[in-house]
Amino acid sequence: MSENQNKNPKPTEIFAIATDPIYIGTGGYNIGRVDNTIVRDPITNIPKIPGSSLAGTWRYYVALELQSHFKDDYKKDLAKRAGKKIEELFDDPQNWMKKIDGNRFARIKCAGQDEASKISLEEAQNINTGHCGHCIVCKAFGFSKEKKASQGMLFFSDLNILFFPVFTRLGVRWITSPKLLNKEIAISENTILTKNGDEQYLNLGWLNLEVSGCHILEERDLGNSDLNLNDVVVVPDSLISQIINSNLEVRTSVSIDPITGAAKEKALFTSEAIPRGTIFCGEIRGFQREGDDSLPDLDLVWNALEDSKKYFKSLGIGGMTTRGFGRLKIMLI
Ligand SMILES: [Zn+2]
Repeated sequence: MSENQNKNPKPTEIFAIATDPIYIGTGGYNIGRVDNTIVRDPITNIPKIPGSSLAGTWRYYVALELQSHFKDDYKKDLAKRAGKKIEELFDDPQNWMKKIDGNRFARIKCAGQDEASKISLEEAQNINTGHCGHCIVCKAFGFSKEKKASQGMLFFSDLNILFFPVFTRLGVRWITSPKLLNKEIAISENTILTKNGDEQYLNLGWLNLEVSGCHILEERDLGNSDLNLNDVVVVPDSLISQIINSNLEVRTSVSIDPITGAAKEKALFTSEAIPRGTIFCGEIRGFQREGDDSLPDLDLVWNALEDSKKYFKSLGIGGMTTRGFGRLKIMLI
């Protein structure tokens, strides 16, 4: 069922490619002319996808995947295609849906806010609201009930920008910097490095910069990103935030009055977003707590993440997903 059955569940690198602009809002204040601003790292001021957004969204997608497998039609269809009986379908020892007894209490409500955290774990089995506290979703991502709370088994780092697309006179180039790559690269102030180093000058958006040499990046620095080394430009750490922030996607939209279906007056607003094509990286750590056999095996949790990551590609992350934002292709390494 999973392609990943024998994978050792160690801290794992995660790569993500934005196939839509990504909007993760700060929910409030605005900078300059933008009304809807996105989350940034407070120190570097570079936009990012917070680990909490990633974890919350993935929790929902694991719950969704689990629920879809409980549907009889789905099971019948799956069995037919596999040429097996329904009972045989879940015999796979690595199957995270069948293997965990508590999954029979799972509901889609195991994702999202827990609206019933004041009740006991036993009561939670039988009511139709709040986290159940028994299924793989609750155990892997954490839950809190009266007298019993669990932190969960997974830690999600922020997804930070690794390569960022910028228009140049030679087409789109992906910029990065020594700090983003976590690599020492000698580079003179206010200059950039390209693969061949012979362009003399190259504009990154509106900023024209001297090309002072070749970057010495290798294929493995690109991770699983499908990028071409020729399309990568290294810029100094002192410029990276400024260039990223001045090349974000900015869109103007209009609020629609839900009653009349027409545009509301004075309802024009602007939103910024991380552009399509941006490549992110981060880390997921799994914890198997010693001596706690109420928690599922980490391998199964890992398979649950693998099997549900497909939803990021279709349903996305963050806000304005109905306006064509948010889709993300995720790769676990
Ligand atoms: Zn649950």
